[in-house]
Amino acid sequence: MLLNKIEEVREQIKTWRKEGFTTGLVPTMGALHAGHLSLIKRAKQECDKVVVSVFVNPIQFGPSEDFDKYPRTLEADTKLCEQEGVDIVFAPTPAEMYGEGNRLTNDTLTYVCPPFFYVNKLCGKTRIGHFDGVCTVVNKLFNIVQPDKAFFGQKDAQQAVIIRKMVKDLNIPVEVIQCPIIREESGLALSSRNKYLSEEGKKDALVLSRILNNIKNCYKKGITDVSALKETAYPFLTEKHDLEYLEILDRETLEEKEKADNNTIVLIACRVENVRLIDNVYLEDK
Ligand code: AMP
Repeated sequence: MLLNKIEEVREQIKTWRKEGFTTGLVPTMGALHAGHLSLIKRAKQECDKVVVSVFVNPIQFGPSEDFDKYPRTLEADTKLCEQEGVDIVFAPTPAEMYGEGNRLTNDTLTYVCPPFFYVNKLCGKTRIGHFDGVCTVVNKLFNIVQPDKAFFGQKDAQQAVIIRKMVKDLNIPVEVIQCPIIREESGLALSSRNKYLSEEGKKDALVLSRILNNIKNCYKKGITDVSALKETAYPFLTEKHDLEYLEILDRETLEEKEKADNNTIVLIACRVENVRLIDNVYLEDK
């Protein structure tokens, strides 16, 4: 069922609680693809009831980002959710989430701000305030739905680390489950933003996964020096690629390291046709 109001969701959850059902939450911004569906399928396996939120969260977009043009396909999303057996699609308006007429800034609203160490790197370096917006909305969704488990993708690896940290630091009673990245056969990680790419752009975008796989292969062959591993990326890049970052970090803490090991993640952000794409890979599958 499609619900737009916080109170309606709360009522339904209350009934489920009384009946002893467990609830899983899959937070999304909609424009659902197979990546989102993999989270939904996992939630269906692990929980009695599944809530998918579809909310393009204004406070996680910077002023020059794509909030207005972000794809909104609620009708198709609802259909896909129905097919997957989702119990509630929660699609509130910004006014429902943040109050009518509120200025969406932290001088009028309570924000949940993750620690600087986790934010001042990777996507957080250029997307100022992004993770404050993410943590605030995810915290609100946790309070509205009170899920037993919440499902996030490794695709947004920094986000997943930050959310786990928030849950731990604030003692939020939810289990965070991370699901693997779903890719096209070509290797391109699925993303709602891939819709902005031309066919040629999609081909150029394959460089992200190629760089990551190549680094993983080099590591498997015995190269562990982080600078040497990073160097291997440059032959892949052309004038069509505007590299924002390529980082090799600890996968749990996002700390820098000189030598890669089995607990290492490689993360990349690169613009292709001015579309900002991110991807990552663990050097060792666990
Ligand atoms: P979004 O709608 O982009 O905010 O993403 C909602 C959730 O889906 C996040 O937890 C993402 O990490 C996850 N997700 C997005 N793309 C993928 C993908 N290709 N594979 C797995 N999970 C994904």
